[in-house]
Amino acid sequence: MATRLPRSEILPKIDRRRFLQLTAGAAATLGLSQLPAGIARAARPPGAYPFTLGVASGDPAADGVVLWTRLAPSPLEAGGGMAPGPVEVDWEVALDGSMSSVVASGTAVALRELAHSVHVEVQGLQPWSEYFYRFRAGDHVSPVGRTKTTPAAGTPLGALTFAFASCQDWPAGFYSAYHRMAEEDLDVIVHLGDYIYEYGIGPTGGARNVSVPGQFRTETQRLSEYRIRYALYRTDPDLQEAHRLFPWIVTWDDHEVENDYAGDDPESFPAERFLERRAAAYQAYYEHLPLRLSSMPDGPNALLYRRVTYGDLAEFSVLDTRQYRSDPPCGRGEQPRCDLALDPATTMTGPAQEQWLLDGLDASGTTWNVLAQQVMMGELDHKIYYDGNTVYWQDAWDGFPAARARILDHVATHGIRNPVVITGDWHSTFVNDLKVDFKDPASPVVATEFVGTSISSNGDAIVYGPYYGPMVPDNPHIRFFDGDRRGYVRCTLTPDTWTTDLRMVSTVSTSDAPVSTFASFVVQDGIPGATQV
Ligand code: FE
Ligand code: CA
Repeated sequence: MATRLPRSEILPKIDRRRFLQLTAGAAATLGLSQLPAGIARAARPPGAYPFTLGVASGDPAADGVVLWTRLAPSPLEAGGGMAPGPVEVDWEVALDGSMSSVVASGTAVALRELAHSVHVEVQGLQPWSEYFYRFRAGDHVSPVGRTKTTPAAGTPLGALTFAFASCQDWPAGFYSAYHRMAEEDLDVIVHLGDYIYEYGIGPTGGARNVSVPGQFRTETQRLSEYRIRYALYRTDPDLQEAHRLFPWIVTWDDHEVENDYAGDDPESFPAERFLERRAAAYQAYYEHLPLRLSSMPDGPNALLYRRVTYGDLAEFSVLDTRQYRSDPPCGRGEQPRCDLALDPATTMTGPAQEQWLLDGLDASGTTWNVLAQQVMMGELDHKIYYDGNTVYWQDAWDGFPAARARILDHVATHGIRNPVVITGDWHSTFVNDLKVDFKDPASPVVATEFVGTSISSNGDAIVYGPYYGPMVPDNPHIRFFDGDRRGYVRCTLTPDTWTTDLRMVSTVSTSDAPVSTFASFVVQDGIPGATQV
């Protein structure tokens, strides 16, 4: 599939320590005069408008948020059309959209080593407050973004509204779902992975029917290829607008690197070079999303699992079920269960993240405890197609049943309050009762799962409904299934109820298709499992 890549092309040229040296530890909060002299002298603003990829904010906290942009006058070219040197980028945060009452400002440094991206970790803001922000590079000023901090942990919160999304294969269709999401009144957006797809894109851009340059024809493997892929996705105006209007909490799934990869085990890429590819992919992901410095990759490793807390109402445990997972114990695709899947050493999260998750759930004081993660946790037995013999899709938690049972058993035995799993990946909607033993009708429901459909992946094709629909009667813990609609999921949380609305667009053949609520579900405080309303 691939010719050998020169090392310098793949490996990130910067690590956390080097970044801190270059930017004196806190570029985000330094004034110009405090910048290292070498950087200030070398800085040369771009000639052409550099904010072609928009602005974004993310990882909100009670006292601040991450502000993001990337300087790229020619976003689809390697290097984004930037000269190699570092560039100073001024930023400011205001209470109003006209940016007249500025409450925080500073100068960050955009480095070539990070594709001239900027990640500003603003501090000193007020909890549960709306802010506006913008960047300036030379004579160029960015669009004004809007963001919102969280309430301080433990403080009373009456309601939280968020949307979650996943799987936005660019050539599969337009982002009508983001167009409509941008019209919602949301506190935050959660993205559960498949932000990009690595596959080559044809000259007419699939369902988009637009001219796509030749550099997108091949699967992404090198850092330069991942970078232009993110840039292509981020030129989409609907995606940009959803980033501009709301803070995002993001995690990745497989396609940000390679389909169905598991830890250091590739699906089909040469194994001896896979970690180099993973390092390039993780680097490009960090460069293009509003993540904290703590998530900056160090070679092929990056700390993406983390927590975000909204007062006393909701805590998000954001998981990474890709980086640390065991090699698929029973093989890939649809397979019967094998003994290795039940081995306690077989893991989806890695032991450190699993302990972090369980400790965090034990310590949480919120009404709702959200596991924001990638692949479906509820069981889906495929036996209708296998003469009644149990067969599972091995890339999901069905391939790692012992790891799943450990988490769900902990949730049950430790009395974790209102655990709700939100999931991407399947390009389908499922609403599931989660049980320690799915095969035992007497096993109690211990948690609720909402699997959201794709933004665009699978396009307008009708394929998953006819295939997966007939499996549902064999899986009675699945309360709802739809395989053939695109959209996003809107969740409104109060101290008493969790309401989920499936927001589906009529088509992805245009960028402004109408949206409607296809079905709604409610979870009551203290009662695991969703009810359609
Ligand atoms: Fe996907
Ligand atoms: Ca996936």
